[in-house]
Amino acid sequence: MSGFKIQLTRRGETLAALLKKEGISHSGVLKAIASTPREMFIPETLQHQAYLNTALPIGQGQTISQPYIVAKMTELLLNGEHPHRKVLEIGTGSGYQSAILAQIFDQVFSVERIKLLQFQAKRRLQKLDLYNVGMKHGDGWEGWPSKGKYDAIIVTAAASSLPQKLLPQLEDAGQLVIPVGTDAQTLLLITRRGNHFEQKYIEDVRFVPLVPGDLS
Ligand code: SAH
Repeated sequence: MSGFKIQLTRRGETLAALLKKEGISHSGVLKAIASTPREMFIPETLQHQAYLNTALPIGQGQTISQPYIVAKMTELLLNGEHPHRKVLEIGTGSGYQSAILAQIFDQVFSVERIKLLQFQAKRRLQKLDLYNVGMKHGDGWEGWPSKGKYDAIIVTAAASSLPQKLLPQLEDAGQLVIPVGTDAQTLLLITRRGNHFEQKYIEDVRFVPLVPGDLS
């Protein structure tokens, strides 16, 4: 896996151009997509599909999200009034979304419940020289309160209901993007206003479930 770097590549730029056509407009997000070697985050047998705009299996019954949704969720977090200093990700998976966030936020914290995935993701980010990402093996329903509060929180697995413990970990005016639902899932953008949480529907989505509690 040597030779991978954060740098613009032709295949990355082609993918970014496709996402732009699909409605992604934030230049920092498009640049991060164009500079991140997605083939590094997926199994070798699927690497020829790395720059397609599709979700792909990454083992352990999990998936790397579709590039469009990675870009969309990141962009949503950047539209708020809050500075882009500290972000919490729930569901590290392959680490691809973490790598995108690391190029935009000063500090990224990411929680994953499957130890093997967490370990592999950590190694990938080190190889890419992305040192501003803290990762831990833990239960995402709990968040990571000791590192908070966060300007933004992104949940990359579908929660059956809004995880209440994440809400106090948001800064005032901070934003949370999260898929909610079981069969039918909707992507929600939640903005903190003091102790009130505004909720906005974004679009229908399809994610693996945010597993309740406990670790494996
Ligand atoms: N952001 C990832 C998407 C991974 S899929 C990427 O870019 O590849 C969602 C991930 O959420 C899976 O790895 C799954 O193991 C993890 N997950 C599911 N329930 C969880 C929980 N309760 N706590 C932490 N992680 C969880």
